[in-house]
Amino acid sequence: MSYKIIPIDVGTLMCSRGVHTYMAHMDQIMEEFRHIAWYITGGEEDIIVDTGPGDTKIFNERHWPTQRTPEQEPERAFQLAGVDFAKVKHVILTHLHPNKCGNNHLFPNAKFYVQRSELQSAIAPVFACQMEGYECLEMGLRNEFFMNTTYTVLDGDYTPCPGVEIIHTPGHTPGSQCVSVDTGKGKFIITGDVVPLRENWDGGPWYSPHIPNTIHTDLMAYQLSFKRLEGLGGTILPGCEVSIFEQPCYPAP
Ligand SMILES: [Zn+2]
Repeated sequence: MSYKIIPIDVGTLMCSRGVHTYMAHMDQIMEEFRHIAWYITGGEEDIIVDTGPGDTKIFNERHWPTQRTPEQEPERAFQLAGVDFAKVKHVILTHLHPNKCGNNHLFPNAKFYVQRSELQSAIAPVFACQMEGYECLEMGLRNEFFMNTTYTVLDGDYTPCPGVEIIHTPGHTPGSQCVSVDTGKGKFIITGDVVPLRENWDGGPWYSPHIPNTIHTDLMAYQLSFKRLEGLGGTILPGCEVSIFEQPCYPAP
């Protein structure tokens, strides 16, 4: 299969680098990152990975400052990437934080894949910061970002299409999952918030070899997930990294 992976810019996120890198960059200097959705095309059926934040006004009130140009508005951004909404048959959600699942309504004919452990965590999170992160009812927050979707619930790895594998990689959240795509010109791995920045994968002077996301539920599980990703042997595509857009698609045209 000759898959092509197109990153889609669905918003500019302003926050400290330290939000992404556990115990590093604690200086609180604000920086620009990206909310990224991914379009996997070239196979028999079109696939989307993550749908981005929904309404920015609500997102800004509850989470980190996010801005959008007209081209970053999700409907426009998906169209600019060539997505035909009705033809998308699979939407894989790396997890259910609201910056990943806020535009599920754009895909009326898709199956939505999520881990059972993620759904459980989103409905009844353990930690206060995750309650806010998931916009759960216990905090009195609106949670239709993930509740208005009918899910195909997974218990571990799954292959929705030939050459596309969903890999359960807990740590950032209990049901975080990555997507490995064998493009025919190398394997690429979409990592969501498990690897938000290149720096998380490349490590730093006091980290060997990888840096977990500051937001996490289980560091031991996280470490095993990093090992799992290493074993896959593909090119890592981080979930919030601005430099992803230096290349229009993966593999390079
Ligand atoms: Zn997240």
